[in-house]
Amino acid sequence: TFSALTLDELTAQRDRARRDYDALVQRGLSLDLTRGKPSARQLDLASAMLTLPGGHTAADGTDCRNYGGGQGLAELRAIFSGLLQVPAAQLLAANNSSLSLMHDTIVHALLSGLPGVGRRWVDEPRVAFLCPVPGYDRHFALAERFGIELIPVPMNDEGPDMDVVEGLVREDAQVKGIWCVPKYSNPNGVSYSDETVRRLAAMPTAAPDFRIFWDNAYAVHHLTETPVEIADILALCAESGNPDRAFVFGSTSKITFAGGGVAFFGSSPANVSWLLGHTGKRTIGPDKINHLRHVEFLRDEAGVLEHMRRHRELIQPKFEAVDLILTKELGGTGLATWSKPLGGYFISLDVLEGSARQVVSRAAEAGIALTPAGATHPYGDDPADSTIRIAPTYPELPEVELAIGGLATCVRLVGTERLLE
Ligand code: PLP
Repeated sequence: TFSALTLDELTAQRDRARRDYDALVQRGLSLDLTRGKPSARQLDLASAMLTLPGGHTAADGTDCRNYGGGQGLAELRAIFSGLLQVPAAQLLAANNSSLSLMHDTIVHALLSGLPGVGRRWVDEPRVAFLCPVPGYDRHFALAERFGIELIPVPMNDEGPDMDVVEGLVREDAQVKGIWCVPKYSNPNGVSYSDETVRRLAAMPTAAPDFRIFWDNAYAVHHLTETPVEIADILALCAESGNPDRAFVFGSTSKITFAGGGVAFFGSSPANVSWLLGHTGKRTIGPDKINHLRHVEFLRDEAGVLEHMRRHRELIQPKFEAVDLILTKELGGTGLATWSKPLGGYFISLDVLEGSARQVVSRAAEAGIALTPAGATHPYGDDPADSTIRIAPTYPELPEVELAIGGLATCVRLVGTERLLE
């Protein structure tokens, strides 16, 4: 590793990194690795949807053009029930964004309280959510926007550190929720072990209205031949005597169209009627034409998996390129470590403590846009200043290669300068 080099050797490495960086800046690149969006070619996979649906009648005779059907089309819920591990009768198919469902469940808990609990969250002296880190910036921003206190919890390779989680929920009745991305998590690709899921479902909580926000955004977004399976949170909660504990979310944003997909909510019968009751006040029904379009296009569970295989063909080479380039440029230097996800949309890159911001700003000066350092932590504050999120799906492969090569140069530059300080 570079920390074992002599002063002369390290200086030579820094000088080489400076030359490479100057050459990089000279190229005047303009590349963007900021957001986990599907590429245009991925969206093209679903372009047949633009001429669907062919009809307008659902399996039960419902005219999808009309109002009503608050739970969403039964045949669409049947397709996603197994994939999201939610019984079809307890699954809602909604409009185009699971994030908006998360938003609404929080608003309803704040303003109306949760089933079986007298007190609304707004009437509590304090509401706090546990935030496994690194995590998804939009989860943190959504909770923060409503004044919910964000408590970071470290992640390990089996999910959130459960000793820490169990301690916090047992001792603090104001801890009302936890954000979880249980499969191929954003951003480090970790999938929760069965033991982690079991402990989340069974742990005693001081708050009677504690909820797990189970955002299974990447349920079918595999990057390998061997899909990761996670334990069934709703079943385990029910078995543990905590049937109302988990809210399950998912969507087809990264299956069909990110801007025109279908979002899902699944939970216990009590929670589902609770949400349906409140949703009935804000809409006379979801976009069932879009539901029908998805049913006609995806057909069944096998159809979803087959469609996801085509996504994998497009994005797996990008993930592989990132790993190859980082290994070639940074392997053995000790300047960085990075995740090798088996699915999902992100890679997390950890650089020397106290240098992520600097790497991101060097990259920006060279025309490579990265998610701001710190975004993976509550309040945008990564105390170690070491985690950088890489989103390789949107740019085409040659741009990914250029951008990651450039990023590696920035890591070498900032890392060698730091070791010489
Ligand atoms: N949840 C996670 C973990 C995500 O990474 C994303 C998008 O990046 C979303 C939710 C957004 O989902 P939707 O498009 O259904 O609102």
